[in-house]
Amino acid sequence: ERRNPGELEFHQAVREFAETVMPFVQENRKYKDAQILERMTEPDRIVIFRVAWEDENGNIRANRAWRVKFNNSIGPYKGGMRFDPDLTLSILKFLGFEQVFKNSLTGLPMGGAKGGANFNPKGKSDREVMRFCQSLMTELHRHIGEDTDVPAGDIGVGGREISYLFGQYKRLENRFVGSLTGKGLTFGGSLMRTEATGYGCVYFCENMLNHAGDTLKGKTCVVSGSGNVAIYTAEKATELGAKVVTLSDSSGFVHDPDGIDAEKLAFIKNLKEVARGRISEYADHFRGATFYAGHRPWNVSCEVAFPCATQNELNLEDAKTLIGNGVRAVAEGANMPTELAGAHAFVNCKVLFGPAKAANAGGVAVSGLEQSQNALRLSWTHEDVDTKLKSIMSDIHRKCVKHGQANGYVNYVRGANIAGFIKVADAMLAYGVV
Ligand code: NDP
Repeated sequence: ERRNPGELEFHQAVREFAETVMPFVQENRKYKDAQILERMTEPDRIVIFRVAWEDENGNIRANRAWRVKFNNSIGPYKGGMRFDPDLTLSILKFLGFEQVFKNSLTGLPMGGAKGGANFNPKGKSDREVMRFCQSLMTELHRHIGEDTDVPAGDIGVGGREISYLFGQYKRLENRFVGSLTGKGLTFGGSLMRTEATGYGCVYFCENMLNHAGDTLKGKTCVVSGSGNVAIYTAEKATELGAKVVTLSDSSGFVHDPDGIDAEKLAFIKNLKEVARGRISEYADHFRGATFYAGHRPWNVSCEVAFPCATQNELNLEDAKTLIGNGVRAVAEGANMPTELAGAHAFVNCKVLFGPAKAANAGGVAVSGLEQSQNALRLSWTHEDVDTKLKSIMSDIHRKCVKHGQANGYVNYVRGANIAGFIKVADAMLAYGVV
């Protein structure tokens, strides 16, 4: 804390990691003697820069952008870009730190990074977003590339933004290479990348339930968020026979006791991806649904919860409410959505709790597959990618069980942290003092 004053989110992520990994390090002298944990908490490099652009009224605007290159021990840096007016370096450091171990868990050769800008895409015209993205890439292009650092999307950065960013990269570099993932299907994107984080999260949850002799089929699910991760989590959970009864955004949540089926999800996709509207409009459109302004969905009774909006959206009180209502499994679609005390409560009450590092790794895994396809200059089919995604998620589940199982309960937090740690730590040991 003395080294990184005020970086609350970063401290939280490191604390969660250290709680489970420290005892393991203490038992393994090779890691302890090499001060591996201490080295891992210091990013390799951070780039901070100004992004100047012109809005529709001819005003010059200035934003701040960052790229936190956390650790490239096992592969080129990889991680999303976030556009959010409340973004801070602390948030990016927590996300970059988590990304290192998440990427390690996928089994693919990817290091960890994260970046973004304190830019608010909400309410901006397409032209303004384009000018912002082009200005940002005018600086960022020198710091990224297919063998150095490969950014992707995150909150506020979807297909539209990645397209503007990639268009500018290609123009500046005069090279068509896989330097960004989440690209459009006609210019190097992978099938299934849009769906991958949400689908992967549901596959992971199904793995946890199956391991405990249960299944998602017939379960009532509460999902938060209504962005990329939430939409495809709801879609896959519904396909597997569960009933999703909520979605949310930063203004509140909708509760639809009849279930948000495929037809209703089509409305949401259009609302969020095309019309860029608010979730409250769902309740105006579908009879039986209610919108609760300013609330989060955790007091709606459910057997499975998928927090898919943002960090720290589920606190200890929410965790207690979910446990009181009999929640069986919680799979984190968002990054660090559960506060530390809430995560402890789930583990103490033996809820099947899939932490983000493991549960939402499907997105970056398919990004890794997009890089492979770009390098090979070919495109795999939907089935190819889905099969690989399923197998990667089961493999992550297996690693979590290996390192997290004790006394008939799998502590997925411990399992994911230790499994993710070992691969990166061993590479760092092999490099000597770096
Ligand atoms: P989107 O921008 O598509 O959607 C974000 C959703 O979360 C929106 O519904 C948004 O509502 C809501 N939200 C954002 N901030 C808040 C807040 N402070 N309070 C309440 N709701 C909020 O982002 P993604 O779906 O891509 O990302 C969601 C989470 O998943 C993030 O934690 C991200 O890091 C993580 N993630 C994403 C991956 C991906 O592939 N996209 C991969 C792995 C993790 P509103 O529109 O009102 O802001």
